[in-house]
Amino acid sequence: MLEMISYRNEESKGVVYSMWFFSDEQNMLLETVRQFAKDELGPKIEHLDAEEGFNREAFTKMGDLGLLGITVKEEDGGAGMGAIEATIAMEEMGAIDASTTLSYLAHAILCVNQIGANGSAEQKKKYLPDLISGKKLGGMGMSEPGAGSDMLSMTTKAVKNADGYAITGGKTWITNGPNGDVFYVYAKTGETKRDISTFILERGMKGFSTGKKFTKMGMRASPTGELVFENIQVPASARVGEEGGSVKMMMRNLDLERVTIAGISLGIAKGCIDSATQYAKERKQFGKPIGAFQMIQERLAEAAAWYDACRTQTYTVAKLFDDGKLGGKESASLSAKAKLTAAQMATKVALDAIQILGGYGYTREFPVERAMRDAKLIEIGAGTNEVMRLIIARQMLGEVANL
Ligand SMILES: Cc1cc2nc3c(=O)[nH]c(=O)nc-3n(C[C@H](O)[C@H](O)[C@H](O)COP(=O)(O)OP(=O)(O)OC[C@H]3O[C@@H](n4cnc5c(N)ncnc54)[C@H](O)[C@@H]3O)c2cc1C
Repeated sequence: MLEMISYRNEESKGVVYSMWFFSDEQNMLLETVRQFAKDELGPKIEHLDAEEGFNREAFTKMGDLGLLGITVKEEDGGAGMGAIEATIAMEEMGAIDASTTLSYLAHAILCVNQIGANGSAEQKKKYLPDLISGKKLGGMGMSEPGAGSDMLSMTTKAVKNADGYAITGGKTWITNGPNGDVFYVYAKTGETKRDISTFILERGMKGFSTGKKFTKMGMRASPTGELVFENIQVPASARVGEEGGSVKMMMRNLDLERVTIAGISLGIAKGCIDSATQYAKERKQFGKPIGAFQMIQERLAEAAAWYDACRTQTYTVAKLFDDGKLGGKESASLSAKAKLTAAQMATKVALDAIQILGGYGYTREFPVERAMRDAKLIEIGAGTNEVMRLIIARQMLGEVANL
């Protein structure tokens, strides 16, 4: 029975965040990542958040733990795991340090997973070892200043020539952009919206540079910036897959990104519920712990119930993903639903935690104000809440939604 409980508070040691269908290996991974986050991320995040720094050492340690190639096949040097394990990693790290977890997502899911899933034997051999060990940091470039939600309207161009392709344009809001080494980049190779191809670009290539690094309200220990491409000449072997064949791969990866990023929202909410529950037991006003007041109880109870609901939804979608039961529009809709609910839930739970902690909640003495700033990003990145609603509604209404 305990295995079915997805949330337990501090008093019960907060140890069981399992799901009824997690295997022993998945529960072990959960414990390992939780310990790693506590030891390696927790002590540094307050300072890194204030300074907009980056926990580079954590990536080397994630490499040692096998987390960086978590979804890559074992024969390609990865851990051979799936969406459930990646989501567990996101949740456990996200509960302590959502910023480093966002950078982890960009590296492991948006870059490494994509090279593992779609790269040629030569590309995998060239890039995966250093990315999986943590020697190199990866990222993904899709968004552009004029192409965010409408990403197919991107204008970065790869023009075919005798030596391969010349790539010109740029990307913006790229996680790990300011400090990454290897980027999985989408560019137009034709005139229509769907003529999109993928190229692996590296820092150090002639014509590759990084533009502005953004100052952000949250996710401050996850560097975000612009990539600039000035006539970068790459051989045809830098292209991933068929020319003009990337839209499907991009959409498939967005589905995986959405279900796993929902894990970060779950982690943020879990951290807030733990902090607020503990505080409600300890803080006394009017001669009683504030947890004795029903208005405080209501906020806590609502938070725990919504967290459990979103968690069940997210891991169920991750399991369907891993079982190969999702395809096409259904996959897009279910992962959009998981992200939409978890992202909104985390922002609401973080705001409620601030309210429960009162004046202290608004200060940097407690992590809940950082949690609120971090949580908001997940309502925007990897597709906004509005775009998630569009995807869900289109699947429900079919042609009617497009009239
Ligand atoms: C911290 C951070 C990290 C990121 N990391 C990456 C990364 O690693 N790689 C990458 O490629 N991108 C990344 N992004 C970009 C992110 O995916 C985009 O910001 C996001 O897709 C939204 O695009 P936009 O900002 O251009 O907003 P816009 O598309 O301009 O949207 C503005 C507003 O209009 C709404 N809107 C737009 N279209 C519609 C519509 N049809 N119906 C209703 N409302 C609509 C949106 O929901 C939003 O509220 C990152 C962004 C941030 C902030």
